[in-house]
Amino acid sequence: MTDLRTETLQAFSAVYGGAAASLWSAPGRVNLIGEHTDYNEGFVFPFAIDRRTFAAIAPRTDGMARVASSFADEALEIPLADLAPERLSGWSAYPLGVAWALRETTRGRAAETGFDLFIHSDVPVGAGLSSSAAIESAVAVALDDLWDAGLDRRTLARVGQLAENKAVGAPTGIMDQSASLLGEADAGVFLDCRTLDAEVIPLGFDAADLVLLVMDTGVSHSHATGGYSARRASCEAGAKALGVEALRDLGVEDLARAREALDDETFRRVRHVVTEDQRVLDTVRTLRESGPLAIGDLLDASHRSMRDDFEISVPELDLAVETALSAGALGARMTGGGFGGAAIALTPRDLVSRVEFAVDGAFLEHGYTAPTTFPVRASEGARREQ
Ligand code: ADP
Ligand code: MG
Repeated sequence: MTDLRTETLQAFSAVYGGAAASLWSAPGRVNLIGEHTDYNEGFVFPFAIDRRTFAAIAPRTDGMARVASSFADEALEIPLADLAPERLSGWSAYPLGVAWALRETTRGRAAETGFDLFIHSDVPVGAGLSSSAAIESAVAVALDDLWDAGLDRRTLARVGQLAENKAVGAPTGIMDQSASLLGEADAGVFLDCRTLDAEVIPLGFDAADLVLLVMDTGVSHSHATGGYSARRASCEAGAKALGVEALRDLGVEDLARAREALDDETFRRVRHVVTEDQRVLDTVRTLRESGPLAIGDLLDASHRSMRDDFEISVPELDLAVETALSAGALGARMTGGGFGGAAIALTPRDLVSRVEFAVDGAFLEHGYTAPTTFPVRASEGARREQ
């Protein structure tokens, strides 16, 4: 970690000549439980991880916004006054989109100056750990300070989301930015996607010697986008047929009625969302009452529900989950949008190598490309580093 800090500051000086005025960082995130509940206005329970994106920044007096990253070769610059979503593209749409979104949000109340910004990160890109929220959140806290904007963390999460929705053009929710900005060490962020209320809940993984093992299958199916849209449409149709604003408004006790009213496929889509919302609530309650060793079954049930009812798993994800459980994980499930991506397994620290070894072996046996596996710990959210 120390290395990343130093590297970021050194790279800043190499690119821009002078020293950075301050250094900020924000983590990626993993979603412990609560999948496909966000757009149904339900509950999610992600945590910030120990992989971070660093942002070194210094003010400029000429009104230019300049950005560079160890991730990309070219440095880009644009006059602050010209920032607009339609003028941004590529990776710089993330940091410059945040600058635009912060201006939109403060409407001239902030002390806007030009800036030099350098980004450096160890959050893997596209592995389901939200490198996008990490870069947005790191830039959001850096600029909020540089411009003396004084926005609170919840508002900064909305700034990140606005940047991603408008400047990048990805219709994502607010979960990732909330986890990255509000996360705390060994704690999860329990988020109500309707009210946007967020509560930090201790996980107790460290004391119980548990880690969450991420198993990235590297699989990405071409029908992921279509499949995602189809699931959203089913959820909307189900809510409409049942006369509620969103599936959030249904409880497990409504499922008998739902079975009568809906065709089998729509019913199963609805059942996933309704039971998943309940599992998030149960996970939070179980952590409080019994501790982290007791949440494994909820993770397993979440996976079965996505596999059988929501039908968004793939054989590689099922294999990763089943193998991890056989090798000693306490609970495991696929995570993210589905049709590929990563699975997670709650694993006693001393069994991590055994689980990794078993999953590698099973993938080899099935002729699948070896997965990338790594443990993550729940860590502090965005912060000033220097
Ligand atoms: P993820 O699941 O990792 O969030 P996304 O596609 O949402 O995947 O976001 C990844 C994109 O975010 C990258 O393609 C790049 O444009 C931008 N990005 C993430 N991290 C960095 C970084 N360190 N430097 C520059 N751009 C980054
Ligand atoms: Mg992303």
